[in-house]
Amino acid sequence: MNNSKRLFERAKEIIPGGVNSPVRAFGSVDMDPVFVKKAKGSYIYDSEDNKYLDYISSWGPMIFGHCDEELNEVAIEALKNGISYGVPSGVEVEMAEIITDAYKGCEMVRMVNSGTEATMSAIRTARGYTKKDKIIKFEGCYHGHSDCLLVKSGSGALTLNVPTSLGVPADFVKHTLVCEYNNIESVKKEIENNKDEIACVIIEPVPGNMGVISPDMEFMKQLRKITEENNILLIFDEVISGFRISYGGAAKVFDIVPDMVCFGKIIGGGLPVGAYGGKKEIMSVISPLGPVYQAGTLSGNPLAMSIGIAALNKLKNNPEIYEELENKAKKLQEGFNKNIEETGVKAFVTRYKSMLTIFFNAKEVRTYADVMTSDTSMYAKYFKGMFELGILLPPSQYEIMFLNTTLTDEEIEYTIESNLKVLNSIK
Ligand SMILES: *Cc1c(COP(=O)(O)O)cnc(C)c1O
Repeated sequence: MNNSKRLFERAKEIIPGGVNSPVRAFGSVDMDPVFVKKAKGSYIYDSEDNKYLDYISSWGPMIFGHCDEELNEVAIEALKNGISYGVPSGVEVEMAEIITDAYKGCEMVRMVNSGTEATMSAIRTARGYTKKDKIIKFEGCYHGHSDCLLVKSGSGALTLNVPTSLGVPADFVKHTLVCEYNNIESVKKEIENNKDEIACVIIEPVPGNMGVISPDMEFMKQLRKITEENNILLIFDEVISGFRISYGGAAKVFDIVPDMVCFGKIIGGGLPVGAYGGKKEIMSVISPLGPVYQAGTLSGNPLAMSIGIAALNKLKNNPEIYEELENKAKKLQEGFNKNIEETGVKAFVTRYKSMLTIFFNAKEVRTYADVMTSDTSMYAKYFKGMFELGILLPPSQYEIMFLNTTLTDEEIEYTIESNLKVLNSIK
């Protein structure tokens, strides 16, 4: 038995499923998880010292790769000043200034400790501000695990939406309406059926939790227009896309200003950080300014703020990073496409900026319904094949590959060569 296996056996006795977040269990690729000992640059090392080219990047935050020296220096300096105070510190102000400068329409921001907290608190704020209860989300978009967001649409027009998790009372999701991504008619219908009852629409402007789906710009523009016309707040969940697809997020790329925005992942530089913000008028309903309660013992933690600030400044001061990352992703996409054609494997690669997914699907993948027709057992075989060649992909068909700035051309080429080998072996 190797060390990972031994650790997993111990873990399963005392941690549910042996992991602290479900996707880490590698269940959807029929494998046991790899337990990491350390990571550096674009590599992760397991407890046997095997190294893997890492395309998980902690699900996005490690945009500069692991153990970036600049960020490490900042972390060590920050430690010397104490880890947590429970009273305000200057780095919290600095972080808020960086985010509000970077993001159009985000005039005020509140720090939290995760993406889940950010979306949950943004929705509470939207409800408090509009004094309306209903919300719209989209099928296939993930916004963390708070009760009202763990819901899928019921089948048929008459069924109510159903929670996707046991432990969420049906009553808690009865205010959540579920629409189809990239389908504006589905939104118009819900708005029509729930006149003056909808507080907000929450959306991943670039979906990253059902694989990458390309946003339809006409859909996005229409969504902004009809939410505005109906006094419904538009919330962009930029927990993945914020500071990854551009420094100003999707709002900058789309030239669409949402009423509220949520961040996470990258803004903490690898530490547990989230944030939600929006127009001053909206954010002013939050406690202690207003009647919407939200708090956090470790929110705005000085160590996390220091590393997050360093990461965001590094992105701001090196704007060429975005083009470089996109070029690497393009190269992977072109290489994969060539291999798919050559091997005849039924697969389709989606990409938006530096995010990409290889779907084992005979047709183009444009909607959630398309995503759900993908062959997950083929993905499992593909994952395993790549893993054996020392490449760590997201252990699920529905997650995306995250690239980091330390990836070299040789590593990209090695990934493309390995892709060809594995496609050949599983076809
Ligand atoms: C990861 C993610 C979240 C939840 O963030 P956590 O920090 O895991 O709670 C919310 N929204 C989106 C779009 C995400 O990708």
